Amino acid sequence: MKNVVIFGAPGSGKGTQSELIIKEFGLAHISTGDVLRAEIANGTELGKTAKGYMDNGQLVPDSLIIDILASVLDSKGKNIPGVIFDGFPRTIAQAEALNAMLKERGTQINVVVGLEVEEDELIKRIVERGKTSGRSDDNAETAKKRLSTYFNQTLPLKDFYVKEGKYASIKGMGSIESIFADIKKAIENA
Ligand code: AMP
Repeated sequence: MKNVVIFGAPGSGKGTQSELIIKEFGLAHISTGDVLRAEIANGTELGKTAKGYMDNGQLVPDSLIIDILASVLDSKGKNIPGVIFDGFPRTIAQAEALNAMLKERGTQINVVVGLEVEEDELIKRIVERGKTSGRSDDNAETAKKRLSTYFNQTLPLKDFYVKEGKYASIKGMGSIESIFADIKKAIENA
């Protein structure tokens, strides 16, 4: 199995590049943001709790996310070539839980694709996406909060994966195709 984490700030292109990675490598996609948005759309208790955090640019508590991730992972079945984790992990606790969860299932993360994009560009992209995404958190004000959450709680994970020798730094500016070409190489070499 080849398991990939796509890592980067909100607006760094994780969703767009995930789609290309899935097409190329046939990986199963797990986006915790999509999982949470589906919970909100279905009006579940988890959705109701999550929405408050999401609209405020904050992370949903680790315990809620980690619980749901294990069941989403198992729902993908055993006959898959690997998984792309998109928007997860976002904290060190989540990364440690993911390592344990994969180890229990006899597998591991092969590579963490880190999309590096300048901050001004991130805000621009999120506001642009907000015109069509219908996401209540895609506006300038929430984007700034999401970025500060990212720098405080998620960016420390970069070091965590660098130490594990799994972090592949990818320049996330330029054309979608040229960024993907770099990602493809990183995954093939993992
Ligand atoms: P995303 O679609 O990945 O940008 O996620 C949208 C929002 O969902 C985030 O701003 C968080 O509030 C929440 N979220 C998604 N994934 C996670 C996660 N792994 N841990 C905590 N909160 C998350």
